Amino acid sequence: MKPSLTDELCTICGLCCDGSLLDDVELKSDGEASGLELMGLQIDWDNDPALPLPCRALNGKLCRIYENRPNTCRRFECKLLQRTKRGEVSVDEAKAVIVKTQKQAASVKRIFAEIEGGEGEGSLRERYQTTLENQDDAKDPDQVLYTQLNKEMDCMEGLVDRYFIDL
Ligand code: SF4
Ligand code: SF4
Repeated sequence: MKPSLTDELCTICGLCCDGSLLDDVELKSDGEASGLELMGLQIDWDNDPALPLPCRALNGKLCRIYENRPNTCRRFECKLLQRTKRGEVSVDEAKAVIVKTQKQAASVKRIFAEIEGGEGEGSLRERYQTTLENQDDAKDPDQVLYTQLNKEMDCMEGLVDRYFIDL
């Protein structure tokens, strides 16, 4: 049987789960959130419950709680997946966009690591925000890294906006 487009694209992607596109996943109820917490996932209870990204259920590019994933995850389809389903983008083009965006996210993370000196936490945009807040305290050599970071993040946001979600 031919794999579905979701199987073909999402299993090599994971960008909507790893914090590259989104900051969190909205959960529909406290009950859903508690169920996920029992499965060992971190829940942000500050306002309406949400699953912070990168998601701890992500294993490589795959969801390890796929059968029990939240309702929002079940319903979510990025623009690229929708356009591929409509035949506006070929599968090969979609795969190339995914690889290009993954490489761009990796470039941004490499600069975060150089500035922060560690792995860091949170989505790409949250880490970017935190890094910018610390820019005034950075030493002169680090300012070069900030310039690179702004450039790479601009490029990342361009890809996200063009292909995945409306920012
Ligand atoms: S970003 Fe799109 S293609 Fe990638 S895993 Fe999410 S829905 Fe699938
Ligand atoms: S629960 Fe699964 S599908 Fe939802 S964000 Fe986490 S890894 Fe992705």
